[in-house]
Amino acid sequence: MFKGILIEKDHSGYRATVQELADEQLPEGDVTVRVSHSTLNYKDALAITGRGPVVRKFPLVPGIDLVGTVEESSHPGYKVGDKVVLNGWGVGESHWGGLAQKARLKGEWLVPLPEAFSPQQAMAIGTAGYTAMLCVMALEHHGVTPDKGEILVTGAAGGVGSVAIAVLSKLGYTVVGVTGRPEEREFLMGLGASDVLERSAFSAAGKPLGRERWAGAVDVVGSHTLANVCATTRYGGVVTACGLAGGMDFPGSVAPFILRGVTLAGIDSVMAPRELRLQAWQRLTTDLDLDKLSHIAQAIGLNDVVDMASQLLDGQVRGRVIVDVN
Ligand code: NDP
Repeated sequence: MFKGILIEKDHSGYRATVQELADEQLPEGDVTVRVSHSTLNYKDALAITGRGPVVRKFPLVPGIDLVGTVEESSHPGYKVGDKVVLNGWGVGESHWGGLAQKARLKGEWLVPLPEAFSPQQAMAIGTAGYTAMLCVMALEHHGVTPDKGEILVTGAAGGVGSVAIAVLSKLGYTVVGVTGRPEEREFLMGLGASDVLERSAFSAAGKPLGRERWAGAVDVVGSHTLANVCATTRYGGVVTACGLAGGMDFPGSVAPFILRGVTLAGIDSVMAPRELRLQAWQRLTTDLDLDKLSHIAQAIGLNDVVDMASQLLDGQVRGRVIVDVN
């Protein structure tokens, strides 16, 4: 038996509780992992609270991230004792996830834990941090170099935002954060932001084009914020869109794209190909300051996860949440 969070939905409602689970309940897979840590991401919080339609199969163990040690494997790439990381691939949505002491997965979903990181550090990064790295790599891919100008990061005090600021500043970019929590200004400046702007400046309906300011952007918010970010991006600039914390709509116009040659680059971490994942994790070993990472993350236990999920969706959680499942 092992402990895990189970989400159930039946005649008595939708609930997530910590339960004793049996090995026989684990789904099919060619690698069984003894999980040491998982995390709490925005998507996990939607799944746990039921506030978003994330769970596609009940009952389900949530958790889109995990790190642990291989306990059994019939996959040629992994042997007992290997340390592995998993992010996405529908795990924690349609396949039992990381918020339990054991998981059974497809070997092809796993990546080796980079030697540079402890299990806790890998989860302090987690899907949010690896997605932040994918955003930075997309900016680079489209030619946004530090000399091009300021990079805007929305949802700055959240998981993706805080890692994005830390990475961008280490790479020499001038980074401006947008937050709804002015009390986090010092935290964001400590991560490397050169300025911090108020969320309300971006969250209402704006004009199709505004004063050109950003050479690039990492947007986790969507909706009016994304439209306003595109409208204020400089000629030839690049906006990476990875989130919907403010809404799934995109009430913008094509003006920034057809009049200023702005590129809107979509970022998906869930189905990202293995090569790109390996590259992103490798880049994190050199481009993320571990000292900053320790300020970004806090650790909780399995029993705290359900309460923390509501707080996270209410925008009250700073940075990243590591879950020690043992
Ligand atoms: P967090 O909850 O940690 O951070 C989100 C941040 O967005 C909050 O901290 C807050 O920042 C800001 N925010 C929250 N609500 C609103 C709102 N209504 N309007 C404007 N800003 C808001 O989540 P994550 O960083 O883990 O994820 C951020 C988004 O990215 C989510 O939508 C998530 O689903 C998505 N995501 C997508 C991935 C992909 O593969 N495409 C992978 C990972 C995440 P502040 O307090 O500073 O304003």
